[in-house]
Amino acid sequence: MEQIAQRAATGTLPSWEQVDGIVADAYRYASQDTGGHVADYIPALASAEPDLFGISVAQTDGATHGIGDVDVAFTIQSISKAFVYALVCDLIGHDSVRERIGVNNTGLAFNSVIAIELNDGHPMNPMVNAGAMATTALMPGASAEEQWEAIRSGLSAFAGRPLRLDEDVLSSEASTNHRNRAIAQLLHSYGRLDRDPSQVVETYTRQCALQVTATDLAAMGSTLADGGVNPITGERVVSATVCRDTLAVLAANGLYERSGEWLFDIGLPAKSGVAGGIVAVCPGKAGIGLFSPRLDSAGNSIRGRLAAAHLSRALGLNVFASEAVVTGSASQIVT
Ligand code: GLN
Repeated sequence: MEQIAQRAATGTLPSWEQVDGIVADAYRYASQDTGGHVADYIPALASAEPDLFGISVAQTDGATHGIGDVDVAFTIQSISKAFVYALVCDLIGHDSVRERIGVNNTGLAFNSVIAIELNDGHPMNPMVNAGAMATTALMPGASAEEQWEAIRSGLSAFAGRPLRLDEDVLSSEASTNHRNRAIAQLLHSYGRLDRDPSQVVETYTRQCALQVTATDLAAMGSTLADGGVNPITGERVVSATVCRDTLAVLAANGLYERSGEWLFDIGLPAKSGVAGGIVAVCPGKAGIGLFSPRLDSAGNSIRGRLAAAHLSRALGLNVFASEAVVTGSASQIVT
C-alpha cells in the first residue's frame, strides 16, 4: 500500500481544484502498475485492451472530475448487482429482500456453488451470483421482458443516460455461462427462485452486459452517495433508506472474499466487476468510477484498487478515519 497521509473523513471535500489535482495524482500513481490479467472466462472479455485506465469522480454537489479513458464503454458485469439490488429494495421493501437473500459475506468466490450447499440453499447476499440472480428474480414484472425493461431503465436513471446492451458480450456469456445456469437450477431445487431458472439467468446475463463508462459509474455511485437523487440530472432514483442499506451490503460483500481487505485499506463501500470496473461511494461526498481491465485473482481491478486507495486517503473519504476534536473547540451552551 502506498505511503500517503490519511485525512479524516469528517467535513467536506477539498476545493474543486484540489480534488482535480488529487485525481491526477491517483492516476499517475496507479498507472505504474501493470500486474494482473484481463478476464477470459467470458470469451468476449479476453480481447479487452489491458492498458485502458480511467478515473471519474462525481461530487454530490454536481461537480465532476475525469482523467484517462473515462468515456470508453465496457460491460458493467457484477457492478449491476448493486443497482438492481437497490431498485428491487425500493420496489418491494428491504425486509422481504433481506429475508429471501440475506446480507452476510460467504467468504467464497462470486460464483461459488459450495456456498449455496453450505447454507442449505440460502443465497447469502445479493453481491454473489446466487444472491444476485435471486434478487433479479424478485424484480416486479408480469414477464421477463417487463423485468428486463425495469432493470434497464432503472440502471439508466442511476447513470443519467440510456444504457445500451453489448450484444457481443451478451451472446459470448450466454453461450458459456454453464456455471450460472447450474447455480440457478440449484437455487430452484431449494425452492429459492419463484421464476423459471433459465429466464432468470437470461435476465441476469443481460443486466451484466449493459455498457457503461467510468463517467457513468461515478454518476451511479454519486446517486447512492446523495440519498438516491442523481446529482447531475436531479432525478430521484431510489429512497435514502435504500441507499443506506445498499451501501451497508456493499461494505460487507462488494469485493467478494476480499471485502474485508478492501474495507481495511480503503474504507469505502464499493462494487467491482470482471470487465475491470469499480464503483466506490463516499456517502454525502462523491461517487467514484474506476476502469482498468487487469484483475487480481479474485476478479477485482488492480489499478482501480490502487487509485481508490490513493483517493480515499488524500481526499479524506475513508468512513472510519477521524481526528480528535481539539478540547474546548465545541461551542458552549450559555444558559
Ligand atoms: N456476468 C459475470 C458472471 O456472472 C459477472 C461476474 C463478475 O463481474 N464478477 O459471471
